[in-house]
Amino acid sequence: MTDVPLPTAHPFFAVKASVDKALSEAGRAADSATLVVVSKTQPAEAILPVLEVGHRVFGENRVQEAHAKWPLLRETYPDIELHLIGPLQTNKAGEALQLFDVIETLDREKLARAFVKERDKGVSIPRLLIQVNTGAEPQKAGVLPEALDAFIVLCRDTLSLPVEGLMCIPPAEEEPALHFALLEKLAKRNGLSILSMGMSADFETALEFGATHVRVGSAIFGART
Ligand SMILES: *Cc1c(COP(=O)(O)O)cnc(C)c1O
Repeated sequence: MTDVPLPTAHPFFAVKASVDKALSEAGRAADSATLVVVSKTQPAEAILPVLEVGHRVFGENRVQEAHAKWPLLRETYPDIELHLIGPLQTNKAGEALQLFDVIETLDREKLARAFVKERDKGVSIPRLLIQVNTGAEPQKAGVLPEALDAFIVLCRDTLSLPVEGLMCIPPAEEEPALHFALLEKLAKRNGLSILSMGMSADFETALEFGATHVRVGSAIFGART
């Protein structure tokens, strides 16, 4: 026997309630933020209970893994909205465009141009977010804040890509609020309305700072092994 929790006892509900509470405390409308359930490393059996209670928005960080899990789940749940939240290699751009409804990790010109190449072949481009390396960490993907405005002009205006917002992953050892405030400022000054920020440890803070999407994995599925 597998130990599947009763739907109403699933930690998903506690996280959802915390999102609602944080929004209400910030004076924000209940529908002003979307919970992106991060299902990376989770098998379909772990994802199914969350689908069964009606949730439809999920995040994966690897194209290969998403390709192995989601087409089958989509046969049963065709209204799934899948977000790519991990780095994307240029040679997987075409596959990612087919698989994901939102790509949150546009982070360099080469990738933007790979999307354009696919579009020229007739592939439609999903909603795009630009990942910003707000902490300027050398090991982390993302556009540096000082290079962002020019990169937005390139993607949105020169290449006509559907850039809708920004995403960040703050440095683990720093106060996330500073990074959330910076991302909010960068989005506003560029006329972008989507802000994907906040994970299990800090999504309430992110909502306070205007997150429209929070990406939560371990608080829902437990620690990843
Ligand atoms: C894994 C991951 C998350 C979820 O992190 P948790 O701490 O498990 O909530 C969010 N965003 C990105 C980009 C991730 O890779």
